[in-house]
Amino acid sequence: MRVLVVEDEPDLRRLIAQALRENGYAVDDAPDGHEGLYKATTWEYDAIVLDLMLPKISGLDLLKTLRKTHKTPVLILSARDTMPDRVLGLDQGADDYLVKPFSLPELFARLRALIRRSAGQSESLMTIDDVCVDTRTRTVTKAGEPVSLTAREYAFVELLALRQGELVSRTQIYDHLFDENDDSLSNLVEVHVSNIRKKLGKDFIETRRGQGYIVTGCGSPSDDSDSGES
Ligand code: CA
Repeated sequence: MRVLVVEDEPDLRRLIAQALRENGYAVDDAPDGHEGLYKATTWEYDAIVLDLMLPKISGLDLLKTLRKTHKTPVLILSARDTMPDRVLGLDQGADDYLVKPFSLPELFARLRALIRRSAGQSESLMTIDDVCVDTRTRTVTKAGEPVSLTAREYAFVELLALRQGELVSRTQIYDHLFDENDDSLSNLVEVHVSNIRKKLGKDFIETRRGQGYIVTGCGSPSDDSDSGES
């Protein structure tokens, strides 16, 4: 998942970006509203963390312009803590509002919820056949057994699971899993797919040649058999 952090306070911007990276997100950042708006309308982000008091273009003006063309989930992170401020931000199209000072675990929990909701998932637990993806703990189990994935592999599995049944193109994968600082070697996606198949089964990810990847599940859940075992 890829997040844009628009924040003019350098230490805070670095802190949030670094903590997000440690949690497996791809992260871009912007120190002012102008660069923030440019990036927000250029790349496909899973969520945007937006400060309100920003140089060049204010957070609210950025949001107003963004909403003309993009539905990207936006979480406002601001020291403005009055009720009218929050109402204005939400009315302008923000999806959530967190007041500074804030705690990182709460920011992350809200971002996870935003990303889930925008993908049409309300639960933090997603199941594809015997594979279970827990977005809260960022862990994956297969047949009840924990599976050890790298941060990138986890992000890949989560992206496909959030869009299960939908074809995800290579471009979308690059947009959502890699940030502007990653040098994306063209074969990386295939390497990740191959490693994930080794860990979660070769049929977990289906390749649609020339189009992309999809996870569907075969639709035969083992917990649905009312008939007695023979
Ligand atoms: Ca600010």
